[in-house]
Amino acid sequence: MNAKIQTLKELYPEDLLGYSHKLTEGEVAVLSELRVSLEKHLRPVLTDFYERGTFPFDEFYKVVADVNFMNDDRIFEGRENKLKTSELFNAFLYLELARFDASIATFFTVHGGLCLNTILVGGSEEQINEFVPKLRSFEYQGCFGLTEPDHGSDIAGGLATSAKRVGDKWILNGEKRWIGGSDTADIIPIFARDTEDNKIKCFIVRKGAPGYKAEVIPHKGSLRMIHNGHITLDNVEVSEADRLPNIEGFKSVNDILTFTRADIAHLAMGVSAGSFIAAHKYVTEREQFGKKLASFQLVQEKLVRMQSNFVANLGYSVQLSHLQEEGDALMTNSALAKMHNSLNMRENVALGREICGGNGITLEADVMRFFLDAEAVYTYEGTHEINALIVGRAITGVGAF
Ligand SMILES: Cc1cc2nc3c(=O)[nH]c(=O)nc-3n(C[C@H](O)[C@H](O)[C@H](O)COP(=O)(O)OP(=O)(O)OC[C@H]3O[C@@H](n4cnc5c(N)ncnc54)[C@H](O)[C@@H]3O)c2cc1C
Repeated sequence: MNAKIQTLKELYPEDLLGYSHKLTEGEVAVLSELRVSLEKHLRPVLTDFYERGTFPFDEFYKVVADVNFMNDDRIFEGRENKLKTSELFNAFLYLELARFDASIATFFTVHGGLCLNTILVGGSEEQINEFVPKLRSFEYQGCFGLTEPDHGSDIAGGLATSAKRVGDKWILNGEKRWIGGSDTADIIPIFARDTEDNKIKCFIVRKGAPGYKAEVIPHKGSLRMIHNGHITLDNVEVSEADRLPNIEGFKSVNDILTFTRADIAHLAMGVSAGSFIAAHKYVTEREQFGKKLASFQLVQEKLVRMQSNFVANLGYSVQLSHLQEEGDALMTNSALAKMHNSLNMRENVALGREICGGNGITLEADVMRFFLDAEAVYTYEGTHEINALIVGRAITGVGAF
């Protein structure tokens, strides 16, 4: 067995079918270093920040300083440029982050998934050259402003935020809801409807723009650490130079979501691993009836269901990543994978919680965070129903929503 495969077996013992074997040596090295750094800087503060419902910015940026997992040269070996890592690495990056914590992975997805892909899909060459390196190095923090208070699932037709062109400026008015990281982001892509041609366009609102306000939504029971903002845009001015010229209607938004919905399939796969790993640890330590919980047949059956859910989720993610790498990314596939992986994730976090008994409802057994966080993951980036309807439309030819 070569050294890379040996390292992977130690890093991902739960990857029973060897889906990780196609990662490059450089990718494996970065993922291994990320694991160590997350444990060092973030593990000690997780419970505290979770309970306080706020994001551990200092500790997160210590991880970025240690392992720049978006920018390290080793993840671009053999690739044309530093615009995108391999899709397989991307899937395992989500596994690595989400098996650790879903808020950390969500913070990354709004920055390195949604915002980055918005720039890549919608930006001019100059905009890509300006924003992508700064996002990759985390010099800029990015987010993604699509959803509105009155329009979630029906945002494609309902988007109400307006953009009015006045000379070489645009004036934005409206509200956005749930926007991850929007209270601290340096660049905030806002999707708005042009009052002239009624088409959806995208504008980069910069931090501190007059008329921009992002209030953090309080009292969340799920993904407590990530700050979700309720944005108000009151005559916010954006220059024409900060409009993304290649966002032309909702079709362009779908091009972005095709990639980012795959990201959330990977994130759900990571959460299903996290709860499995925590439950596995618990049952190999706790004794009842004079024996380890792991020795009971009923406990093993639940554990194996969790293991099998994880492997199935990883299979979806890895095959999706291969298709994307080959230039064959389809919304139907991303929607299918997001729906599938989220359902399995939801079963895994419930089984993990159950296996840990009473201690399973505390943050100590480390399954409760995953249980609570899974609810938000299940809903964002297209709810279960909407993703089912996207696939339903593709396989029946009948649109039902
Ligand atoms: C923690 C969190 C973070 C988020 N981050 C972001 C972000 O960074 N940027 C961003 O733009 N958005 C973000 N969102 C928004 C997210 O994408 C929406 O919550 C999601 O699209 C669902 O919209 P909604 O919550 O308004 O639910 P609704 O659309 O009101 O749906 C409510 C329920 O009705 C069902 N439903 C709706 N229509 C139909 C139909 N036709 N048929 C069957 N069932 C239907 C839904 O499936 C759901 O179960 C985030 C949300 C959460 C919770």
